Amino acid sequence: MQTPESKPLVVLIDDSVDIHRLLMARLRLEPFDLLCFERGAEGLAACAQRKPSLVLLDIDMPGMDGFAVLRALRGSPATANTPVVMLSGFCSAQDKVACFDLGATDYVTKPFDFSELRARVRSGLRLERLLRLLAERAEVDGLTGLANRSAFNRRWGQEVAEAVRYGKKLALAVLDIDNFKRINDTYGHPAGDEVIQGFASVIVGNVRDSDITCRYGGEEFCVIMPETASEEAGLVAERIRQAVQQVRWAKHAEHPVTVSVGVAGTAGGGALPATEWFERADKALYAAKNAGRNRVVIDALPAGPTGPMKLAG
Ligand code: GH3
Ligand code: MG
Ligand code: MG
Repeated sequence: MQTPESKPLVVLIDDSVDIHRLLMARLRLEPFDLLCFERGAEGLAACAQRKPSLVLLDIDMPGMDGFAVLRALRGSPATANTPVVMLSGFCSAQDKVACFDLGATDYVTKPFDFSELRARVRSGLRLERLLRLLAERAEVDGLTGLANRSAFNRRWGQEVAEAVRYGKKLALAVLDIDNFKRINDTYGHPAGDEVIQGFASVIVGNVRDSDITCRYGGEEFCVIMPETASEEAGLVAERIRQAVQQVRWAKHAEHPVTVSVGVAGTAGGGALPATEWFERADKALYAAKNAGRNRVVIDALPAGPTGPMKLAG
């Protein structure tokens, strides 16, 4: 894994410490950190934990050999797409074919030509950067720049699992612009788009940095609020509701926009699976719509088995 400031990490898995020394020396000026392991199983565990940008993998090792490590890397979601450059003294075409069929990115034969090895590592790192960029883009909504629905689904599942495991507070708000179709129909789609973008800014301006704001689809948004119980989330939703109706829209200053919000949260632990929890927030949203729109409806869920009530008792 890589933060914007840190150097990429390359993991070398090779049973020969001479190879470790050699590569450490010959790759030391390259713009990445190199971490070396002698055993396949150790290297694999480090990859699962550290999520390197590239793996250099020896084929011929005692115990777990390079083929087995490669199979395991490809089988784990954390490393399924990590570029893997195979290193081997064998140069049979059959071995190369087996490596590529198992998902290897590249292949370098020992003894190394270091300029070739460096070039292949750089090319693997370029591939990793592109894959990462693609994965990031796939989770961003084009109109608002917010996380999109697939990012929401992934994050919501993670946040619910964490709340259940550690007995944490967690709330979800589902927000839907009222009578939005009328804005499109009366002022045109660009005016509708402006409302969607402006509404996204209002939400982001009224939630914490640690909250996760997503465009779920159309004019419906979700805010995941970690460490927040339903009443506090209700206050945030109310703040957003009031802020939205104050906005004067450039394309239709005479026509204010309102929003309805459903909130479902717990004071700890979460008792519901992620999908049912979402449905509760969605039902609260529709209760707000049926009650006349431009309002917040809160569904306070019971604390889960790891929640504060149970821990206190
Ligand atoms: P309600 O108060 O019950 O939510 O009514 P509504 O009119 O807001 O809801 P409805 O679901 O009937 O209409 C949503 C509209 O949003 C229909 C769809 O064409 C429009 N829409 C969806 N995505 C976009 C978009 O990206 N831009 C624009 N301008 N309109 C969009
Ligand atoms: Mg709507
Ligand atoms: Mg809608």
